[in-house]
Amino acid sequence: MARVNENYLKLPGSYLFSKIGKKVAAYSAANPDKKIIRLGIGDVTQPIAPSIIEATHKAVEEMGHAETFHGYAPDLGYEFLRSAIAKEYKDRGCHVDIDEVFVSDGAKCDCGNIQEIFAADSVIAVCDPVYPVYVDSNVMAGRTGVYDPKTETWSNVIYMPCTQENNFTPALPEKTPDLIYLCYPNNPTGSVITKDELQKWVDYANEKGSVIIYDAAYEAYISEENIPHSIYECEGARTCAIELRSFSKNAGFTGMRLGFTVIPKELMCDGVALNPLWARRHGTKYNGAPYIIQRAGEAVYTPQGQAELKAQIDYYMNNAKMILTGLKSAGYSVSGGVNAPYIWLKTPDGMTSWQFFDYLLETVNIVGTPGSGFGPSGEGYFRLTAFGSAENTKEAIERIVKM
Ligand code: PLP
Repeated sequence: MARVNENYLKLPGSYLFSKIGKKVAAYSAANPDKKIIRLGIGDVTQPIAPSIIEATHKAVEEMGHAETFHGYAPDLGYEFLRSAIAKEYKDRGCHVDIDEVFVSDGAKCDCGNIQEIFAADSVIAVCDPVYPVYVDSNVMAGRTGVYDPKTETWSNVIYMPCTQENNFTPALPEKTPDLIYLCYPNNPTGSVITKDELQKWVDYANEKGSVIIYDAAYEAYISEENIPHSIYECEGARTCAIELRSFSKNAGFTGMRLGFTVIPKELMCDGVALNPLWARRHGTKYNGAPYIIQRAGEAVYTPQGQAELKAQIDYYMNNAKMILTGLKSAGYSVSGGVNAPYIWLKTPDGMTSWQFFDYLLETVNIVGTPGSGFGPSGEGYFRLTAFGSAENTKEAIERIVKM
């Protein structure tokens, strides 16, 4: 008789955003006259930039002619895109070869799948709170031990609390993890790490033999000096770190789907090189991001593309500024929003994250994301995003300030 993977049955509750969706739908059905403003989900709203659309059209046209038609893409991705990516790293002073870049259809799949090439009993460490995919994908793989519903933690996961008390910066773990997930700029707290601080993690990983999985999906939002855009800016990162990147937030590809993973050839695990292992996995289970989308991705790196995307990011970061300033003026304790499109606030009057969610929805019809959905240390916090339209963001903040 067929049996299911029981690890899936261990996953608690429903996915955060489906719970939010249900609550909002119920409120909306009961109050059809209310204008709800959504500053919850981290999806972008600006359209794809003109030069990228032009490159996409051109690629679509090519697909309609036998001489320029493209079928299956090469396993690692087209060279034109991988060399544009490697060049961007080079311009930043990082060494990344084109055969260390694995093009994919987004960072979510990569950060969910990468755990597959590590031992089944690997111990993972995650920042708490953080993007839920890191833990959930390891739950599915049966790596996380027993779930305690009281503390909402797994027995075999090292949680590294990131709260106001430590300025949202995790301490190096006392117990040595095999895999360390770091996400900077951070979703959901919007916090960043300085190069010196990140260097400590790289040194720690090299000393202990751990592998860092560095999710830099939001690097395009970094505005301050001395904040690394890539872990490979740190010395020794090539022997301990995998980097994940996405085209979703820098270029609005959430609906186009494109990302990549970098695995340096020097990165070894127990004497085995990870680059060929991931190449084998990629070749077996993945058939490549579409040619059309990879051409669109190539346009991201052109001077015209870069200029258009900078304007988009400035637009979102203007929203972030509006939210940050408005909330501060209303007396909220807030962080993030300077190098990231996320604003992280402490819920007022000791409300839980979900209590504040309901309060905000019912009082001013604004939807945000409860911090507790990102991990136990997110309890008592709340995330707003800068991805809305400027008009909606302005109106939302005016409503919150008045509240
Ligand atoms: N990594 C982080 C930290 C994210 O917040 C997200 C999306 O919100 C992703 C990865 C997913 O990126 P993609 O759209 O490329 O799958």
